Amino acid sequence: MTDLNNKVAIVTGGGKGIGAAISMELARNGVKVVINYNTSIGSAEKLIMDIKEIGGDAYAVQADVSNLEESKKLVEEAIDHFGRIDILVNNAGITRDSTFKKLSEEDWRTVIDVNLTSVYNTTSAALSYLLESDAGRIINISSIIGQAGGFGQTNYAAAKAGMIGYTKSLALELAKSNVTVNAICPGFIDTEMVQEIPENVREKIVAKIPQRRFGQPDEIARGIIYLCKDGEYITGQQLNINGGLYM
Ligand code: NAP
Repeated sequence: MTDLNNKVAIVTGGGKGIGAAISMELARNGVKVVINYNTSIGSAEKLIMDIKEIGGDAYAVQADVSNLEESKKLVEEAIDHFGRIDILVNNAGITRDSTFKKLSEEDWRTVIDVNLTSVYNTTSAALSYLLESDAGRIINISSIIGQAGGFGQTNYAAAKAGMIGYTKSLALELAKSNVTVNAICPGFIDTEMVQEIPENVREKIVAKIPQRRFGQPDEIARGIIYLCKDGEYITGQQLNINGGLYM
């Protein structure tokens, strides 16, 4: 089992929703957390206060992770502040849903850049530091939509499926090092992203989930802790946390 005390994590989009739950759970386990945000400075600052209240340590860095230079700056600031990086959680993501006929090139590119290209950006910037860790972890937050597809979500599904292929390939390349690479595929989790879905559609989704409820952000966060703590021999995998919706 890996001792997480004083390890350092970067969580992209770590100030809100699933990312905030991940940041908090890592902090509860003794990890120093670099909380990346793009626009939501208020949520990131509030989370830092909450983490400090439970005796943890966290630091916020603004960066648009779809941009390589900003991702490099994020990693540099993490190193300047905490001196090491052991865990990289690629959680930042957006949706721009539209049926394919109506999908604009801009919405295609933006979703690919924020969800998928960001993973290249942060990983390439952080990899040399992760390789210095005795238990490096890269965890990519993909989605059930990348596995099963989603109506009106060709852009998002392509990005999230891309993350899965990326995870397996990088896991192979890094298998002889101390760095594991895995994906978590959440089902429908009760955050702003899902709260934006119209109520009548939400009801239909819940009716299809075998466990008949949305997941909670901390249920994803506990998956992260499992992979970080007990995941020495787990690499290239998809951990499905979805109430049985996709098996
Ligand atoms: P959310 O509440 O909308 O949060 C999205 C997060 O991504 C925010 O912290 C946001 O930060 C950050 N972000 C967006 N664009 C960014 C950028 N360019 N650079 C840096 N950060 C950026 O969504 P969520 O539900 O927590 O989703 C988190 C992840 O889980 C996403 O990758 C999503 O695709 C995935 N996921 C969610 C569900 C679900 O049901 N909720 C299911 C499967 C997968 P700012 O607010 O600062 O921009």
